[in-house]
Formats: sequence, C-alpha cells, structure tokens
Amino acid sequence: MKASRFDYSRPLDLSEAIVALGDPSAKPVSGSQSLGPMLNLRLARPSLLVDVAKLPELRRVEQRADGIVFGAAITHAEFEDGAVPDPTPGFMRAVAHGIAYRAVRNRGTIGGSLAHADPAADWPTTLCALGAVVHLVGPDGRREMAVEDFILGAFETALVPGEIIAGVFVPRASIQARWGYRKSCRKLGEFAESMCAVLSDPSRGVHRLAIGATEARQIVVKNAAEVIANPDLLDGRLRDAGLATDPAAFRLHRTVIRQAIAAMELESLPA
Ligand SMILES: Cc1cc2nc3c(=O)[nH]c(=O)nc-3n(C[C@H](O)[C@H](O)[C@H](O)COP(=O)(O)OP(=O)(O)OC[C@H]3O[C@@H](n4cnc5c(N)ncnc54)[C@H](O)[C@@H]3O)c2cc1C
Repeated sequence: MKASRFDYSRPLDLSEAIVALGDPSAKPVSGSQSLGPMLNLRLARPSLLVDVAKLPELRRVEQRADGIVFGAAITHAEFEDGAVPDPTPGFMRAVAHGIAYRAVRNRGTIGGSLAHADPAADWPTTLCALGAVVHLVGPDGRREMAVEDFILGAFETALVPGEIIAGVFVPRASIQARWGYRKSCRKLGEFAESMCAVLSDPSRGVHRLAIGATEARQIVVKNAAEVIANPDLLDGRLRDAGLATDPAAFRLHRTVIRQAIAAMELESLPA
C-alpha cells in the first residue's frame, strides 16, 4: 500500500514549526523510521507533514553541570558513534548500538522514539532508568516532565495537539556509576520481547531500574537498591502488570532482569 496524499513542509525554526503544527491534521516527522511505515499502511493519514529533523533547537547538545540536554532530532547513530557526548559512562552509546540496523539508526531519532512510545523500543526504557526529563514545546509554551510520566501507555504519551518534543535532559552519572542493559529479541535487529535497563550510582544516591516490552508503559522502580540486590522482589510488580498470565513471557522477563543486573559488573567499567 502507498501513503495517502499529504503536503510537506520544512520550517526553518521552532516557532514556524509550532505555527504549522497548529493545523489539527498536521504531524511532525523526524527520521520517519516509524511514521513512514504507518503512512504506507495508512495507519496515519496526516494532510501535512512538518519536518522537524533539521530545526536548530532540536539538533542542539547543551552541556549543563548536572547533565546534558539532547535535541530531539539527535539520531541513534550519533549516540552510537560518540558524535555527541555521553553523560552516562557508555550506557547511551551501547544502547544506541543495539537499536535495529545501521540504516534505521542513521535516521531514527531519540525524540521520535520517545514520541512514538513503542513499549519495546530501546530509548523509552533506557531513559526511564536514567531518570531523564523530556522538554516539550507547543502553542501554550514550554514544559518539562519525567520520561516515566510522559509515557502514558503503549503508543500513548502526554503530548497535546500541536506540541513537540524539543529535547531530553539526561542527568550526568558519576564515574562510579554502574549500568546494565539486556533485551531479548528473536532475531538481531528486531524489536525486543523483554528488556531491562538498570543504573546504580551510589555517590548520587541513584538506583533505578526499568522494565520494557511489557505491552504497556514501562515498569519503573525509582528506589531500586533492594531489587538490584534481590530481583525476586520484582515478581509482584510483574504479576501486577499482568505479565504472569503468560508463563513463558513471565520467565523471560525474570531472566532478562537478572541478566541486566548481572551485566552491571561487566559492562560499566570506564574505558
Ligand atoms: C526495521 C526497523 C526496526 C526497528 N527496530 C527498532 C529497535 O530494535 N529498537 C528501537 O528502539 N526502535 C526500533 N525501530 C524504530 C526506530 O528506532 C525509529 O527511529 C523510532 O522509533 C522513531 O524515530 P523517528 O525519528 O524515525 O520518528 P518518526 O518516524 O519520524 O516519528 C515517529 C512518531 O513520532 C512523532 N514525532 C517525531 N518527532 C517528534 C518530535 N520531535 N516531537 C513530537 N513528535 C514527534 C511523529 O509524528 C510520529 O508519530 C525500528 C524501525 C524500523 C523501521
């Protein structure tokens, strides 16, 4: 199938983009790696695509004392290649490397991935574990919210009509921080059936764990020191999320969580 007809615009700055997105049948597009297939399947039928991928504000990288704000249009490949700095000791770079194939990573963006909110996508779960904050801009101005509050469910976010993701703030982890990330995919490059991201940064008092690919919003444990020490404590959370109804999926999630926690000792030593 082919996409239905639409107009295309590439605004030069954010305010022009916000005006264009005031049209209720307009949609932003970044890397088009998720929207493209949706257009072709006619699951989305916007009359206007507003290309935000080259907007200067969405391409910026702003260093702050406590972290980095990444513009929403930074691509997976730019994280993978180290073309942008990594405020985590290698965590973001490793996650980016594991997203799909290089062709997808060349175009797909961190903001597009968050806005799409596929429960099995890599950035939403990782950013929940990192305690990241999403920066939004729309006709009523700017606002910020924690990524775990921004994602409301599978393919559902707190974005209101006409609003876009401008960037994502990722707190700076200390050099002692340990992280682990595991996902289970049937085939290399496919979306995961289970994933877990975990960050432990004792000098900041941060211990966070996020479980993805649950067919709903991520399960986020903000004070995860105890569950990192004893992952059995998570079984109740998995049951509450309805994951025990499929025993094979339940076992897979349990295994992936334990692998992610075990990986903290292997993967996070600074190079
Ligand atoms: C074959 C294939 C395999 C893939 N495998 C994986 C995988 O293993 N893991 C993974 O994480 N992802 C995977 N993806 C998805 C890929 O990472 C996409 O890049 C990502 O999901 C969307 O980013 P994008 O920039 O392409 O967004 P687009 O496709 O341009 O947009 C996606 C949605 O977000 C909206 N949007 C885009 N930018 C913004 C913005 N700044 N503000 C508000 N809304 C916006 C669009 O309107 C649309 O609704 C795969 C994609 C393909 C095609």
